[in-house]
Amino acid sequence: MVPPFTSTPAGQLVINWHITEACNYGCHYCYAKWEKPDRQRELVHDAGRTKELLKRLYEFFHPDNKGNPLRQHMDWGSVRLNLAGGEPLLYTRRVLEMLPVARDIGFDVSLITNGSKLDSAIMASMATSISMLGLSIDSPSARNNEEIGRSDRRGRQLDLAGLAAAVDQGRRSNPRLRVKVNTVVNQVNQWDDMTSVIERLRPEKWKVLRMLPVVDDSLAVSQQAFNDFVIRHAHLASIRHVEDNQDMTESYLMVDPMGRFFQNAAGAGARGYRYSQPILEAGALAAFAGMRFSAPKFLFRYVAPAGAAPVPSPGAISAPFNLMVAAPA
Ligand code: SF4
Repeated sequence: MVPPFTSTPAGQLVINWHITEACNYGCHYCYAKWEKPDRQRELVHDAGRTKELLKRLYEFFHPDNKGNPLRQHMDWGSVRLNLAGGEPLLYTRRVLEMLPVARDIGFDVSLITNGSKLDSAIMASMATSISMLGLSIDSPSARNNEEIGRSDRRGRQLDLAGLAAAVDQGRRSNPRLRVKVNTVVNQVNQWDDMTSVIERLRPEKWKVLRMLPVVDDSLAVSQQAFNDFVIRHAHLASIRHVEDNQDMTESYLMVDPMGRFFQNAAGAGARGYRYSQPILEAGALAAFAGMRFSAPKFLFRYVAPAGAAPVPSPGAISAPFNLMVAAPA
């Protein structure tokens, strides 16, 4: 039996809800591709079902819910809902409606975006409803962004100056807003210097992820090249948080646009995702049954200080917890 693993008491549990698969960019490594049951629309387009999903998630992951199987392995004091995509701000109106609903239910709320739709007006509208703004930015180079696929159908790319102005607006509207930049290191940007981007946006956290071949491995990067990227950015270590491929599997709580838990398919060479039953139909407890989740990896991401060494490979600590819970009759 795996011994209980307890986090610092004030830890926060983070649930990533990928509200949509749609995106105006076309990154070749994009992980936002889910199997859709026939003729079903993404939940984000239905305000009533969206609210019901959020309520069920909050009840299930509420810190006082002793029936949540994760409680055997870790403690947390609050729950953050991270809205992701695709590109969530393709549906700005829906997001702006959803934020106060999620807050009222009890969530701390954050959002991650590619930044292309974020202007000062939208930022001002949502800044007081979110505690963290995540920005996914891979390169300062227009040529590299084009090669990665970070441009829309008309070839337009992120306007970094415009985004920086929006971020400044966010900080004015909500001085407690935290900003995070995510960079996926891949074959195209492996030689880039991200210093100018980080200095411009001044994030509290810079997450450096090694491209994980989930759907496509054409831009996969070698271990050596990833390590070199990390070493070349050692001057940013105080805000940097590094995630290699093994840190990323079984360590995110993820919900897809149809309201199912999902995680990366297990096994060497496995591609794609495995899914739970829909949460609205089965209930959160039954849907969560059988999802594999590694508490130590999760705690490294959300609790460890920036610059800390990544969690060793699973074999070096313990097998990832396999959280099998009995579904209610
Ligand atoms: S910006 Fe994000 S969601 Fe959009 S294509 Fe790129 S990786 Fe996928």
